[in-house]
Amino acid sequence: MIDLAALKGSSFVVLGLARSGLATARALAAAGVGCVAWDDNAGSRAAAVDAGVELADPGSIDWRRITALIISPGIPSHLPAPHPVAAAARAAGKKIICDVEMLARAVPKACFVAITGTNGKSTTTALIGHILVQAGVPCEVGGNIGRGALDLAPLAEGGVYVLELSSYQLELLETFRANVAVWLNVTPDHLDRHGDMAGYVAAKVNIFARQQAGDCAVIGIDDEPSRAIYARTLPRPGITAVPVAFDRPVAGGVSFRAGRLIDADGYSVDFSDVPTLPGDHNAQNAACAWAACRWLDVPREKIVEGLRSYPGLPHRQERVACVGNVVYINDSKATNADATARALSSYRDIYWILGGQAKEGGVAPLAPYFDRIRHAFLIGEATDLFAGQLEGKLPYSRCGDLQSALDAAHSRAQRDAGGSAVVLLSPACASWDQWKSYEHRGDAFRAMARALPGARSLGMAA
Ligand code: ADP
Repeated sequence: MIDLAALKGSSFVVLGLARSGLATARALAAAGVGCVAWDDNAGSRAAAVDAGVELADPGSIDWRRITALIISPGIPSHLPAPHPVAAAARAAGKKIICDVEMLARAVPKACFVAITGTNGKSTTTALIGHILVQAGVPCEVGGNIGRGALDLAPLAEGGVYVLELSSYQLELLETFRANVAVWLNVTPDHLDRHGDMAGYVAAKVNIFARQQAGDCAVIGIDDEPSRAIYARTLPRPGITAVPVAFDRPVAGGVSFRAGRLIDADGYSVDFSDVPTLPGDHNAQNAACAWAACRWLDVPREKIVEGLRSYPGLPHRQERVACVGNVVYINDSKATNADATARALSSYRDIYWILGGQAKEGGVAPLAPYFDRIRHAFLIGEATDLFAGQLEGKLPYSRCGDLQSALDAAHSRAQRDAGGSAVVLLSPACASWDQWKSYEHRGDAFRAMARALPGARSLGMAA
C-alpha cells in the first residue's frame, strides 16, 4: 500500500468503492488523512465499512472542509450526466481527481511509465512489467489493470511504476507526470463519456501533459489522430518522441510487422515464434514496449529475453490447450468485431466459436477473414443474426451454448484438420446473455478445453 502520510492535513471524499476506490479509502485511513467515502451500491458500502472506511452521507458533506473529490474512473464526473456527488463537488469549486493523481502526489519523484491507447493497453503494460522484472528492475504494475494505484507497494529509488491509464483516469490527472508516456493508437470509443472524438482524444492527450525535458513519448502513428498528435502536439523542447509505425521505417522510431521489429539504428528483433504475441497488433504492442524499455536503459538482450518469455494475459488469444496438432484458444475478451478481426488475422484453418450479445454491425465486417475459417459454431442470442450474415459465405452450425459449440468444433477439427488448426473462441459479442462477464466465459472455455479427451494444458494456470 502507498503511504499517503505526506497528505496529512488534507481531507478527501472518495466516490466509488470497488477495486481502486476501496484501496484509496484504505490508504487514506491508514495514513490518518481525512476521508469519507460513498458508493451507490450497498454491498460495496458494507465491504468498505468492514475495511474500516468511514462512510459519507452524500447529501450532508460539508464541502468547505474538503480538499478534493477522488472519483472512481467508471463514474461519470461530467458526461453523459455527472454523479450528484461530483456535481456537488464541482458546485463547491472542488477539484475532481483519481487515485493515480494521489499516487503522483504521494511519490512525486518516482519514475512513472504510463500506457494508454484505445486497444492494447493491458498487453503493453503487462509486457513492459514482465520485461522489467526479467531484467531485474524493481517495478510495480497496476492502475487500470490488476491492482489499483494506491494498492501498489512503495518503491525505493530506481524503481519504476508501470501504469495502464484509461481516458477516464487521464482526464482526472492534475500533477501526474509520465517520465515515459506510451500512446498506442486511438479509434472512436467511449464517446458518451467524452462527448465526441475530439473530447476523447483531448482526455487521452493528457498523458503527455507535464512531461519535462529528459522525458520520452512513445507513440504509435498508424491512425490519423495519432499522427496529428505526433506532428503537432509532441514536438516539445527536451522531450524525445519515438514514433512506432507498421512496416515502414520512421526516423528515430521503431517499425514493426507480425513478429518482428526494427529499431531506429537498424537493430532488428524476430519474435515470430513467440506464441503469446501473435499478429500485427501485438507487434505494435511489443514495439512500443521495446521503445519504452530502451529509454529506461534496459539492455537489448534483456528486452529480447522478456519478449520471448512473455506469458500473455488471460482471455486475449490465450493458448489454453492442445489435442494433437489442434490448439484451443481463448479470446473471450474479443467482445466486438474489431477485436475478433485481430485474432482471425493471426491464424489459418480456424474452427471459430462466436456469439453472445451482438454489437452493432455483427460479424459483417469480418468477411475479409472468412477464407481462414473452416467452420463457424454459433452460440447465444446472436445466433439468428450471425447465421444470416454467414449464410452462403461460410459453413456454420447452430450450437446453443459454449460446451456444445466446443464439442462440435473439437470433433470436426480432430476429424478434418490434417495439419495444424485452431479452435478459437473469439465471440465478437458481449457475454451477458449466458455469462456474468467475459472473464467468466473465458474461464469456462479454458476449463472445458482442458477437460477434452487427450488434452494437454498450455500456458498459464487457470
Ligand atoms: P485494452 O487493455 O486496451 O483493452 P488489451 O491488451 O486487453 O487492450 O487487448 C484487448 C484486445 O484488443 C485484444 O484481444 C486484441 O483483440 C485487441 N488489441 C490488442 N492490442 C492491440 C493493438 N495494438 N491494436 C489494435 N487492437 C489491439
